[in-house]
Amino acid sequence: MVRRATRRQFLESVGLAGAALSMSESGSLAAMLQEAKPPLVATAETEKPALLGGKPVCRGNWPGWPRPSKSDEEALLEVLRAARWYRSRSVPEFEEKYAALNQAKYCIATSSGTTALYTSLGALGVGPGDEVIVPPYTFMATVTVVLLHYALPVFVDSDRESFLMDPAKLEAAITERTKAIIPVHIGGNVADMDRILAVAEKHNIPVVGDACQAHLAQWRGRSAGSWGTTGCYSFQLSKNLCSGEGGAILTNEEAVADACFAFHNCCRNRPHSRNGSKYRFGRNGNFRMTEFQGALLLSQMQGLEERAQLRSENAAYLTKLLRQIPGIHPAKEYEGCTRNAYHLYMFRYDPSQFAGLSRDKFLRALRAEGVPASAGYSPLNKADFLLDALRSQPYVRVYGQKTIDQWPERNQCPENDKLCEEGCWLMHTVLLTSKEQMEQIAAAVAKIHKHAAELAKA
Ligand SMILES: *Cc1c(COP(=O)(O)O)cnc(C)c1O
Repeated sequence: MVRRATRRQFLESVGLAGAALSMSESGSLAAMLQEAKPPLVATAETEKPALLGGKPVCRGNWPGWPRPSKSDEEALLEVLRAARWYRSRSVPEFEEKYAALNQAKYCIATSSGTTALYTSLGALGVGPGDEVIVPPYTFMATVTVVLLHYALPVFVDSDRESFLMDPAKLEAAITERTKAIIPVHIGGNVADMDRILAVAEKHNIPVVGDACQAHLAQWRGRSAGSWGTTGCYSFQLSKNLCSGEGGAILTNEEAVADACFAFHNCCRNRPHSRNGSKYRFGRNGNFRMTEFQGALLLSQMQGLEERAQLRSENAAYLTKLLRQIPGIHPAKEYEGCTRNAYHLYMFRYDPSQFAGLSRDKFLRALRAEGVPASAGYSPLNKADFLLDALRSQPYVRVYGQKTIDQWPERNQCPENDKLCEEGCWLMHTVLLTSKEQMEQIAAAVAKIHKHAAELAKA
């Protein structure tokens, strides 16, 4: 029988009430719990884990993504009817607005986040024989762009608590061949830019920030992508701001903006480039954004700030609730991270606190409870595509067999290996909901915790 339970009954039914009340800030938590409406639960029927045939805690009405609007339709039709399909008005307008939104001087829109990163490295002259420093806990594109320039990726291990590049391990990875450092703001959590930039400046190495998952994220009150030499964004379908495909480069340096523009535009310079000439010769390609993407992004930017605030509020509340459950460790933010974009809600799972229940079975149990949770990345430094590329003839020719043979040993990331076994994700759309739904997620985790031994045996 489904009925409206009291908040207390609800929390007790999943074993969260005692824990919640024992926390030091129980006053503020209690106040927060009182604010939200009591959730719909059937206490007796939800008692049994859903994976073992019980009733799920969550009703599973999570929002979809992307969210097309009437304004998107109008924007796209206008471009279509005006036959204005090539970079002319919407793309430059988007570049201007996106630069302003991120407190950056210049923005160059590209066809994807991958081509934004590729263009940044190309503009900085990265090529065969160079080394580029990357973290191992990221999407493959952070590394494929290094390979496309025939540069050698060098991995710096993760800080398991933050899921980000461990800044303490960066300097040891620098050699005289290091041509760029790519910190990644994974999940929207911001890498320690103070320490990374200090090391980069000391060795005079440019920093290309991968902010593909970090729209509106901030480091010390300023857009995460506005720090370093360039900051790269993706507008691929899954991202917090999207147009199906698309990307952008931010920079505060005019010379870098000019070089990126020409690289992405078949040698042709920025219209207002101080360079004077129409062309900037060198390696280049066509990585332009179309007017359709530009117009869609301008339209999709409406509500971006409100959605970011909603994610932040719900994530903060979820973190408070999840911290009460032993063995669940939400990703730590560095002190300078003044805003996390929460493209992903990331936490580590410790099976020893769950009667040995494996991470994968925990995730299956959580999905059965109606929470769309997934395992995160697997170790990128051990990925087959990467090892295949490094063993290919051009790589062996440039770096020599010995360097290639030694590469796996030199690029071990033991902390990241552990992180990849513990990591769990919720997509950002889960945060575009309500406090009540955050309570349901926490309740589902608490329920699994309570029945962990039973689940582990089944
Ligand atoms: C999405 C993503 C990219 C690549 O962006 P695309 O637009 O898909 O090419 C690069 N790095 C990270 C961390 C990403 O999440």
